[in-house]
Amino acid sequence: MQFIDLHAQYRHLKVKIDARIQTVLDHGKFIMGPEVGELEEKLSEYVGVKHTITCANGTDALQLALMAMDIKAGDAVFCPTFTFFASAEAIAFVGATPIFVDSNEATFNICPDHLELQIKNIIAEGKFLPKAIMAVNLFGLPADYPKIQKIADKYDLKVIEDAAQGFGGSINDQKAGSFGDIATTSFFPAKPLGCYGDGGAIFTNDDDYAELIQSLRVHGKGHDKYDNVRIGMNSRLDTMQAAILLEKLAEFPSELEARNKLAADYNDAMRVKNNIKIFEVPDGYTSSWAQYTLVSENRADLMATLKEAGVPSVVYYETCMHEQTAFNMYGHKKSDYPVAEKISDQVFSLPMHPYMQNNQVLKIVNSLIS
Ligand SMILES: *Cc1c(COP(=O)(O)O)cnc(C)c1O
Repeated sequence: MQFIDLHAQYRHLKVKIDARIQTVLDHGKFIMGPEVGELEEKLSEYVGVKHTITCANGTDALQLALMAMDIKAGDAVFCPTFTFFASAEAIAFVGATPIFVDSNEATFNICPDHLELQIKNIIAEGKFLPKAIMAVNLFGLPADYPKIQKIADKYDLKVIEDAAQGFGGSINDQKAGSFGDIATTSFFPAKPLGCYGDGGAIFTNDDDYAELIQSLRVHGKGHDKYDNVRIGMNSRLDTMQAAILLEKLAEFPSELEARNKLAADYNDAMRVKNNIKIFEVPDGYTSSWAQYTLVSENRADLMATLKEAGVPSVVYYETCMHEQTAFNMYGHKKSDYPVAEKISDQVFSLPMHPYMQNNQVLKIVNSLIS
């Protein structure tokens, strides 16, 4: 059994994807070919935003968003400590300082109360200029954007939505990728909408940001890439990946349904276990189920039982940002972020993908509840 079975998806879409790849090989426009623009249009339509700018990966997407906001040394950007490294990395990479925020125990996402506390701390300290909040849709569930936006408005901060894991999720029918000032996603193969290599995208309703990011992703181009009006990057999505994504995006709504059905089946089966806490999606929210994650004090035993039964399980994430070696310079202490630390000690994720067989689900559930 595989944790994420990408090959099952390929078998399902093979004829369409192979034809798309052949089309690109035939027209030969490997960089910024017609499929890139076509995909950007379809993504804007799906997410419900004015502009989509694709790029080389989800980390670059975050960096481009920060660059467009002119975030740099001396600035503070607030982000969750319980996330994938790239969120905090991009902030540090542009020279700004990531200010870590503890998690909400029920959703694993950034805690709005602790966020406001950290903003007040940074303002009182006066060392860094608070500029933006980078919230993350962890494991597929959108962060609490209604509350986050209120806090952002109160302190005049920008909001970046890191929807690398969240493509397809929503709050009251508003889709992930449309919250905040700029949102980003990743098309890394294992993400909910993945390609066959690296890829990413930026979403915004702001015309100025969109224009700036179009320039930044191609060496800070002016009227063409040999007219360079600012320092940018080389961060484009390959035409081949765009072509593959066009077919995967067409299939995505039914895959999202399958992920939600699998999560509901897992939840129903696991509800009876008192040493396992299941993940309940808040009212009005939908998750894209990038991961199906459980919480247990007996994590090690449960994972060992699964392994014996031939079922893979993975811990996302064992190490919070404030505990990462790369961020030692900020001098955080163990126990600075009690909720995130507890979560990282107790979470583990089960196989989750839209092409799971019923007998596989039964096997997983039975080995956990026996
Ligand atoms: C995967 C991921 C990224 C980075 O995406 P890449 O395409 O791998 O660069 C950023 N943030 C989060 C939360 C992620 O899960």
